[in-house]
Amino acid sequence: GRARSSGEAFAFHEEGMEERAVRRRVLQEDLRRAVAQGEFEMHYQPLVHLRSGGVTGFEALMRWRHPARGLVPPAEFIAAGEESGLIVAMGAWALARSCAEAARWPRLKVAVNLSAAQFRDHEIVRHVRQALSASGLSPELLELEITESVMAMDTKHVRDLLYELRALGVRVVLDDFGTGYSGLSYLLDFPFDKIKIDRSFVRGIGERPECDAVIRAVLGITRDLRMVSLGEGVETATQLARLRECGVQEAQGYLFSPPVPLAQVRGLVARLGLHQAVAEAPRTLSA
Ligand code: C2E
Ligand code: MG
Ligand code: MG
Ligand code: MG
Repeated sequence: GRARSSGEAFAFHEEGMEERAVRRRVLQEDLRRAVAQGEFEMHYQPLVHLRSGGVTGFEALMRWRHPARGLVPPAEFIAAGEESGLIVAMGAWALARSCAEAARWPRLKVAVNLSAAQFRDHEIVRHVRQALSASGLSPELLELEITESVMAMDTKHVRDLLYELRALGVRVVLDDFGTGYSGLSYLLDFPFDKIKIDRSFVRGIGERPECDAVIRAVLGITRDLRMVSLGEGVETATQLARLRECGVQEAQGYLFSPPVPLAQVRGLVARLGLHQAVAEAPRTLSA
């Protein structure tokens, strides 16, 4: 059952298993229709370089423009996409769309989220290659974000795919770091270019000593392995200052901007300024 304290005043009774199964099927059917009709759009949230204060790129975040429900956030449909297998088509679309839109920006990166289901076979490499060639986007401007749940799959298979993807020239990013169950050793086994520190740790900065400790530990690792570090969910100037002190390189959060529709990207870049990118060399790896 769900917590009733979280604003769900109208949840008069616990939802039964059957009800939940029906609701899930209805949602999946609705999602199937949405995929066919093309009801999705990508919104973009700036990634900010902490030294220069300028934008290095944007994370592409999917939204469902539902004819009756309005704009639906990923929390309400990504899981259904994964359960139904629709996420593979949705993910291919997200890649193609994000690359096509980013190819028209000034030299800025675009970060696209991938689901574990997209790693189940070999298609992801073809989808990335297609998105790059159709858009003309430079591969080094594309970042692929995966979470620890992806690595919990078949390790060898995922590792091989990540190396193949990196061979295309794209960058691989570990998202929501610290929320999974894996130890630190896999950071050595997978070719990550960047680690995004989950916002649960950023939120606890200055309040819970463990959070500062985690951030310092991540910094130690990323420095040694020559990865970029990014702090997620930065909402206050205090959090920003602390991340800067720790030596975190990039940040993302409502303090700078929430995710915005494509039409607002240019305005945001004008407001925040463009990071003067000295092309970062990719991590050198011995495969
Ligand atoms: P994520 O990849 O970790 O993306 C960051 C999420 O944190 C976004 O939520 C963003 O709006 C939110 N966020 C950013 N700054 C702040 C802040 O300062 N405070 C707070 N409280 N939140 C902040 P969003 O857009 O709702 O997306 C949620 C998740 O859905 C994403 O988490 C990602 O895991 C997934 N997702 C989004 N788009 C896609 C997609 O195209 N494909 C797949 N597979 N997953 C996606
Ligand atoms: Mg992400
Ligand atoms: Mg994240
Ligand atoms: Mg997340």
